[in-house]
Amino acid sequence: MHPPRPEDLAVELSEEDARGVERVVQRLRRARRVLAVTGAGMSADSGVPTYRGVGGLYRSDRPTPHGFSIEEVLSAPMFDAHPDVTWSYLKEIERACRGARPNRGHEVLAEMDDYFDSVWILTQNVDGLHQAAGSRNVIDVHGGLHALRCTRCDFRTRVDHYEGLDDPPRCPTCEAVLRPDVVLFGESLDPDKIRLLQIQLTKGFDLVFSIGTSSLFDYIVAPLRFAQAAGKPTVEINPDFTAMSDLVDVKIRARAAVALDRIWADHLAWWPHT
Ligand code: NAD
Ligand code: ZN
Repeated sequence: MHPPRPEDLAVELSEEDARGVERVVQRLRRARRVLAVTGAGMSADSGVPTYRGVGGLYRSDRPTPHGFSIEEVLSAPMFDAHPDVTWSYLKEIERACRGARPNRGHEVLAEMDDYFDSVWILTQNVDGLHQAAGSRNVIDVHGGLHALRCTRCDFRTRVDHYEGLDDPPRCPTCEAVLRPDVVLFGESLDPDKIRLLQIQLTKGFDLVFSIGTSSLFDYIVAPLRFAQAAGKPTVEINPDFTAMSDLVDVKIRARAAVALDRIWADHLAWWPHT
């Protein structure tokens, strides 16, 4: 699990991607509010496996050793009935993220905070890398692995990793099972986070990025459709094609770290001179 070496960012962009970068930079010049919707591909350059991509830890078409699909294992009913089974997979996911550092893509999004009125990140990732990079406005719609809470009482704690936790870990106050503050399959999203997202969407964004997500969830696609309805530009950064690829204004097939590094270098080359 190694983040790309700096020289890996120097890869040649295809002509199409180079044109895409140029178009994004032009639009960024006029932007005051920017939204980045991110998924597992955002952290792929930090060495964290994606969900559905190549080398994915949790391919949904492959049954787990317990004979269940990963969606079943990471679901609320499974957690209620067999918390140790769900926890064994949560631990695998945590192990896959452990030691990962923000990559150049996370850094660029965090640097953007100082250059625009408002930059928001809507992420499906539970690895905490946007926050670690220093992004100020992160809506982690699926929660985060490092915050644990009791399933019965108000006990909450933060952990750096899951090493040494019991199977399943229990509350020091009431002995009930602990769980991470992540959204399991079959659970609703945090209404406070959704409200915050809606407030920001209502204020509007001048540019919306979709980065490293297979764009399967409605609430992940909605901000792009919202922007399109308002005549605002949308950009997808993903080496693969998704349901959004033909709908966005700019499609860039370079990796997130490479594309964002190039966009930002070109933006900064222009920025101080006007
Ligand atoms: P996904 O795995 O379904 O899709 C990942 C997407 O990223 C794919 O379309 C792939 O083509 C693209 N991708 C791969 N490498 C890339 C790169 N270097 N740059 C840009 N794009 C790249 O991920 P999803 O859409 O986020 O859905 C996965 C679900 O699993 C989410 O709900 C998320 O909570 C969870 N998950 C989280 C993490 C994490 O926290 N890092 C990792 C895996 C899964
Ligand atoms: Zn408790």
